[in-house]
Amino acid sequence: IVEADHIFFIVNRERAGVQFDLIYDSIFERDPTVFEPYWRKMGDKCTMVISASDSMSYFSDAGNLCWFLEPKLGDSIRNLHREIGNAKSNGRHIVVGTGTTQLYQAALYALSSSPDRTHPISVVSAAPYYSQYPEETDYLRSGLYKWAGDAYKFDKKEDDGNSNYIEVVNSPSNPDGSIREAVVNRTGGKLIHDLAYYWPQYTPITRPADHDIMLFTFSKCTGHAGSRIGWALVKDTGVAKKMIKFIELNSIGVSKESQLRAAMILGTLSDNSYRNFNSNKPDNFFEYSQCLLAERWKKLRDVVKRNRLFILPDYPLEYCNFTRKITQSHPAFAWLQCKEEDVDSEKLIKAHKMLVRDGVRFGAEKKYVRVSMLSSEGVFNLFLQRLSAIQGNFN
Ligand code: PMP
Repeated sequence: IVEADHIFFIVNRERAGVQFDLIYDSIFERDPTVFEPYWRKMGDKCTMVISASDSMSYFSDAGNLCWFLEPKLGDSIRNLHREIGNAKSNGRHIVVGTGTTQLYQAALYALSSSPDRTHPISVVSAAPYYSQYPEETDYLRSGLYKWAGDAYKFDKKEDDGNSNYIEVVNSPSNPDGSIREAVVNRTGGKLIHDLAYYWPQYTPITRPADHDIMLFTFSKCTGHAGSRIGWALVKDTGVAKKMIKFIELNSIGVSKESQLRAAMILGTLSDNSYRNFNSNKPDNFFEYSQCLLAERWKKLRDVVKRNRLFILPDYPLEYCNFTRKITQSHPAFAWLQCKEEDVDSEKLIKAHKMLVRDGVRFGAEKKYVRVSMLSSEGVFNLFLQRLSAIQGNFN
């Protein structure tokens, strides 16, 4: 790692051979590998054996509306939400997806696919928004929906005079960690709540979320992004049916191996989460991950304070119902803003051999960049080292 030039993308020796351009536009920079040491320490506790004759059918539970959801995963998800208190899951349908990336598209389809639709419905999100929303919305040039940018600037009226739109509310937000609510608030609007980071390691859990469509992902809850498991909690049966139809047409369900692995790992979290939170048990995942992120944020804030070139957002102290402590958010990403006007922060940071994602991709100005706080220990420390060095060169 230490020899690598562009640290965010070179996670280990094998990957070091990957071509720079290829990596630049890829997902390496947001790979949540920070929790790997925890799971390694767990040893064989979450190891499972799947024999060649297991799980061969397309079906997981033919009697359930979501017929490709493994019942064990459904149980683990409901138990976990109950334990953490971050979302109401009772009376909701669980729709499993290949990551929330697939569920986001399933939700767009479900909310826009009415037979009398004559033109695409506008999809908006408050800036700075998750940089994948515009691309994921528009890459198939759907006739059902289209990206319409920053929700704060949305004023389009459809032909019939109604303001029909879909607003994606991402809270806590990627990139800036803020707690969000819907901003357009007009009749005819439909909401998708992307709650990928509403877990105790990132933010105080202040209430159980209770929205029409809520998206969660295994990727950010435990760091198992490679399993590609996400789930939606959906109130309305008609909307859930359409999302399920989308996934049926798109991939005929979701990998059972992944679902069973997720069920086992999420199940472990419920077993030793809430009850043991204050008992300093080394195997408590949320305690471990919250401490780790708090430590990283402290180190980053120290560096930023010393080099006096950037500003980081401040987060309010709030009572967390899960930890029963007053805590602060420690988001998965740091939203760095250069103090100097007209500075292209991405260029500046890149000149110091660090690759970050520039603010423009999130609907913000170029003085902003997003930095992952979920990289491996070596990469994160090297990032801090290089960020500290900017002061000398810049002044
Ligand atoms: N929503 C947000 C806000 C995210 O940050 C991410 C991952 N970076 C996703 C969705 C996609 O997650 P998944 O791995 O479940 O597809």
